[in-house]
Amino acid sequence: MFARNSTKEVCFENELRTTDYQIVLAGNPNVGKSTIFNSLTGMKQHTGNWTGKTVECASGIAKIKDKSFSVVDLPGTYSMLSFSAEERAAASYLANNEMECVVIVVDANIIERNLSFALQVLSVKKNAVLCLNLCDEAEKNGICIDADELSLNLGIPVVCTCATKNRGLSELKNAIYDICTEKKKCFCVSRLYEDIDIFDEKKHKANVKNLLEKSEQICSRCVTYNKKEINDRSLKLDKIITSKATGIPIMLLIFALLFWITAVGANYPSEWLSMLFSFIKEKLYLLFDAMNAPDFITGLIIDGVYTTLTWVVSVMLPPMAIFFPLFSLMEDSGYLPRIAFNLDKFFSRCGAHGKQSLTMAMGIGCNACGVTGCRIIKSKQERLIAIVTNNFMPCNGRFPMLIALIMMLFAGGALTVISSFEIAAILLLIIVLCVLATFAVSKVLSSIVLKTKGNGGFSLELPPYRKPQILKTIVRSFLDRTLFVLFRAIIVAAPAGALIWLLANLNINDISLLKYCTDFFDPFGHLLGLDGVIIMAFILGFPANETVIPIMIMSYMASGTMVEYSSYQELFNLFSANGWTVTTVICTMIMCIMHSPCSTTVLTIHKETKSLKWTLFSAFMPIILGIICCAIVSGIASLF
Ligand code: GDP
Repeated sequence: MFARNSTKEVCFENELRTTDYQIVLAGNPNVGKSTIFNSLTGMKQHTGNWTGKTVECASGIAKIKDKSFSVVDLPGTYSMLSFSAEERAAASYLANNEMECVVIVVDANIIERNLSFALQVLSVKKNAVLCLNLCDEAEKNGICIDADELSLNLGIPVVCTCATKNRGLSELKNAIYDICTEKKKCFCVSRLYEDIDIFDEKKHKANVKNLLEKSEQICSRCVTYNKKEINDRSLKLDKIITSKATGIPIMLLIFALLFWITAVGANYPSEWLSMLFSFIKEKLYLLFDAMNAPDFITGLIIDGVYTTLTWVVSVMLPPMAIFFPLFSLMEDSGYLPRIAFNLDKFFSRCGAHGKQSLTMAMGIGCNACGVTGCRIIKSKQERLIAIVTNNFMPCNGRFPMLIALIMMLFAGGALTVISSFEIAAILLLIIVLCVLATFAVSKVLSSIVLKTKGNGGFSLELPPYRKPQILKTIVRSFLDRTLFVLFRAIIVAAPAGALIWLLANLNINDISLLKYCTDFFDPFGHLLGLDGVIIMAFILGFPANETVIPIMIMSYMASGTMVEYSSYQELFNLFSANGWTVTTVICTMIMCIMHSPCSTTVLTIHKETKSLKWTLFSAFMPIILGIICCAIVSGIASLF
C-alpha cells in the first residue's frame, strides 16, 4: 500500500539536520498543529479553521533551553493507512525517519477519535509527547480530561495546551526537551497493543480496529463529559448556513460584503499612495536633471521601472491588503468548509468533487496555491478537473485588475457615477461568472474526457465555528501579502517595466519595436473587442499578472504624451484617448479571467500533474475560451 520511497515527497531541508535533535508534529487535520509549529519556531505557517489546508509539510528550527531542534509539521493525517498522497507521505515519513520525539497533537474536544491515530503513531515511534490542544474549547464544552491518568495509560507525557493563547506551551517545550535529552523515558506502549507494520494493509486494518477499541477504553478511564449539549450553537448556526434555502444567499451576501468593504476601503489608500508616488516622481525628474542624466537613463528608470513599480504598489496593494485579511478571518471562523458543503451538489452534478470549492477559494489568493491545494482531492480525475479549472478564479494579481477596470468603466463617465455598492455587486457578478465557467468546463471535462461520475457525496469535517484571532490574522495576512506583493513588484514588475520601456523606445525606421508588435496584433485584437496593446500586455504579463495594466499604460504613453494617472478618471482618459470603449473594458475583463495562468502556476500545474499534455491544456484552454467569449461580446456590441 505504501511506497517506501515516498518519503522523498516530504520536504526536509538538509540544513535542519545540523540541529541537536529532530522532532515531528503529527496529528489529525485542524487540531492546531500549525499554530503550535508557529509558536515553537516563530515562523508564520498558514493557519485556518478547516480540514486539509496544509498539504505540504513545513520545517523550521526551535530553540529550547540550550538545545536546537528541527521541527517538521506533517500534513494532517487521519490514519497511518491512508489513501491521499500527502497522508501517505506523512505516514511514511513517520515510519521511515529517525527522530528523537514525535509531538502527537490531538483535539481535546474529540479525543476519542484522535486517540486512535495517536496509538497508531505510537506503534511506529515510541518517543512521543501527547499534546492535548484546544483545551479552552474542551473546558467550555464540559469535557474534563485527567492528563496524569492518560499519561499513565499511554506511557508518554501528556501536556494540555491552548495554542492560540500560548497556554501550556512552555510545559510542552519542557516535555519535548526531557524526552529528547532522555531525562524522561517513554514506557509501556508495547504492552498496550501489538506493534504494527503500516505497510501490511491487512494486518494494519485489524490493528486499527483494535486501536479504536483501545482508545475507547482509555477514554472511559480518563475523560468525563459534564455537558451533553456540546456544539449546540454550531449545530443551530449550521441549520441556517448550510440549509438548502438560505445557504447560497448567505454565501453571496458574505462575499458581497467582503467586496464592498474592499471597494470602499481601497480607494483612499490608493489615492494617497498615487499622490505620494507622483510627488516623488517629480522630485526624481528634478534629481536626474540635476545630475545631467541622459534621457535614455531617465526614461528607463523613471518612466519604465519606477512607473510600473508604483502602479503595482498603489493600485494593486490596497485592495489586497483589505480583502485578504478579511478572507483569512472568514477562513479562521470555519466558514470555508460550509461553502464546500453548500456547493457540493453543484460540483457533483458536474462530475467534480465538492472539495473543489475549497481549492477554488484558495485560488482567489493565488492560483499556484490553489493548484497545490488540489491534493486534498483523492480521486485522480477529480483532482485533475480541479487543477485545470483553478485558473478561472482571479488570483491576487488579477483581482485588483478587475477592480481597476470596473472603476475605470464608470469613472470615465461611460455610465453613471458608481457607488461602492455597485462595484461590490459587479465584482460579485464576475466571481459568480467565474464559478459558472468552472462548473461548465468541469462538466465538459468530466463527461467527455475524464468520464467521472461525481463523488455522490463526500465526507468533509465541518469544524466548529471559532472566534477568529482578529488582530493576529489581520496583521499576519496583511504583512504576508504586502511583503509578497512588494517582493514580486521588485523581482517581476521592475524588469518588466524596463523591458517594455525599451521595446517602446528602441526604434527601427522610426517605428518602435513595441509598435511593430502591437500593430501586428491590432487586427486580431479588434476582432475581439480589444487592441494590439492589450494583447501584448497579456502576453508580456505572463510572468506576473500584476504587470498587465502598467504595460498597457506604458504602451499608450509611448506615443509621446506624458500622462499622470493619479486617479481612475485620468487612467480612463488615457485609455479612451487610445480608443477604449465600454466594450473594450468588458472584453479586457473577460481576458483577465480567461487567459493563461501565470508562469508560476503553469510550472506548479506541471509539478502536480506530471503531464505535459494537461499542463498545455491548462495553459491554452482558458485562452481559447476567452477568445470565443470576447468575439461573441464584441460581435453583439457591434450590432448596436
Ligand atoms: P492544523 O490544521 O492542525 O495545522 O490547525 P491550525 O493550526 O490551522 O488551527 C486550526 C484552527 O484552530 C485555527 O482556526 C486556529 O486558530 C484554531 N486553534 C488552534 N489551536 C487552538 C486552541 O488551542 N484553542 C482555540 N480556541 N483555537 C485553536
